Amino acid sequence: MRQLSRRDFVQSMGSLLALPLLRTEEPETILYNGNIWTVDEAQPRAQAVAMRGGRLLAVGSNDDVLPLATARTRKIDLAFKSVLPGFNDAHAHPVSSGVEQLRKVACDIDSIDKIKAALRVRALKTPPGEWVLGFLYDDGKTPRPINRHDLDEAAPDHPVFVHHRGGHTAFVNSMVLQLGQVSDQTPDPPGGRFEHDAAGHLTGFVGDAGMQLFLKLIPNKNTREDYRRAAASISKLFTSTGVTSACDADATPEDVQGYQDARDAGELGIRAYCHVSARSLDHFMAAGIHTGFGDEWVRIGGVKMYADGSISERTAWLSQPYIGIPNNYVGLQLFSREQLYEIGRKAHAAGWQLATHANGDLAIDRILGVYEQIQKELPKKDPRFRIEHCTLLTDALIHRMRELQVIPAPFSCYVYFHGDVMHYYGEERTQHMFPMRSFLDAGLRPTDSSDYTASPSDPMMWLQSQLTRKDMKGNVWGANQRISLQEAIRCGTSNGAYAAFEEGVKGSLQPGQVADLVVLAQDPFKADPSELLKIQVERTMVGGIWKYES
Ligand SMILES: [Zn+2]
Repeated sequence: MRQLSRRDFVQSMGSLLALPLLRTEEPETILYNGNIWTVDEAQPRAQAVAMRGGRLLAVGSNDDVLPLATARTRKIDLAFKSVLPGFNDAHAHPVSSGVEQLRKVACDIDSIDKIKAALRVRALKTPPGEWVLGFLYDDGKTPRPINRHDLDEAAPDHPVFVHHRGGHTAFVNSMVLQLGQVSDQTPDPPGGRFEHDAAGHLTGFVGDAGMQLFLKLIPNKNTREDYRRAAASISKLFTSTGVTSACDADATPEDVQGYQDARDAGELGIRAYCHVSARSLDHFMAAGIHTGFGDEWVRIGGVKMYADGSISERTAWLSQPYIGIPNNYVGLQLFSREQLYEIGRKAHAAGWQLATHANGDLAIDRILGVYEQIQKELPKKDPRFRIEHCTLLTDALIHRMRELQVIPAPFSCYVYFHGDVMHYYGEERTQHMFPMRSFLDAGLRPTDSSDYTASPSDPMMWLQSQLTRKDMKGNVWGANQRISLQEAIRCGTSNGAYAAFEEGVKGSLQPGQVADLVVLAQDPFKADPSELLKIQVERTMVGGIWKYES
């Protein structure tokens, strides 16, 4: 058994809080008869855990832990179910996706006719001229991409803007193009793209900086209340799949307030580590805040920058052209090297972790160069530079990452969920994409992440995708990058905590850590890797409280 000594407990609770407590070692709750995988190397398997005040006091066998119970201890029989630490979605957009849920039409439907019908229903309830907004659309899941003519038919009297679930591209109708004064002759803006068909006419598909022109025309009607409701509803969604912590990968001040308000209202079910948008950095810096501010529920993370576009939407900046897209198209660059360096250096000097979105090999090369330069100029002992997504690697790039101990935060289920776009990259290139095997072999600590809404925040899907490298149709992409279940679970739990400097707080089931865990209907170690997705999450505990029960 591993047990917290009274002195450890006092330290972990903070001396002010714990000193007046006389019986701090008395468990409030004991879970027993479990098949527990702890992700604690000192004791990988256990049957029982004892907890108090939302933290684990002891982890071990039934015989070791049950005798700690007093008459007041609540004892819960796990009936030999499998238990894992709660999962950490190391890159997601919880509050902003929750706000979208409140306002927008969900377009995660595989039929263009059905999407048109859903948009038409919303248009009928919306005064003409006001915006009809869609989200969660994925052009890989419909027989062909939706276009401006479909959207014109669905809502001829409304501007219609349908966001791709990846967030970097959108599909707009003719009224939106008119409002933005974009015609067939309008050149692409820097870092952006207006797609044309073979005859040179706009299709309504717009990429990255091309969207900004239209986004700024959409009135922001979100209230403070909306952000709180968003944090509450996404907490329910995430805990239902076993996610107990998430890194909000691009939080505005309103988003951070949403987490705080939900927490104050007792509605926050997940722990949030909030990367702050580069454009909001000065607000936070003016208040003297830097990475680590907050507590184990809501904490300020790194500063978020962007080096390129998206993988699922084919705007990542690659050294070799996409397969099947004309004109040797290689994707889009976002922030310039100068911007990345200036913002990065300022933030690094002020105590911020740097977290930069970089998918393509050229984008990763650029940001690594910036990190190398900043660390040389202003050396920091443990900077934990992050590369968000970090999708397409070469051996040389991985070597440079190892030198600097950079943390990759790759997409975990893209092979499974976005297999329909992998042909744009090709079998050869996918052997170097989301390269979990290569990261682990190099001694790096990759996390698991969904980038929700870009893909589902669903740990069982992550594990299946990483173990099999198989898409929904059974195609295999990059079998050389398969990892083991133990490795995948560690990436999704303790590596996520490490990437947020929180390995002392969470990520494994050991005394002193928060009582965040998930109870599964079946044992993943006994399941066929191709069937992990079928394993039901039965219950999710966060801070010693069941936040989800099926
Ligand atoms: Zn993201």
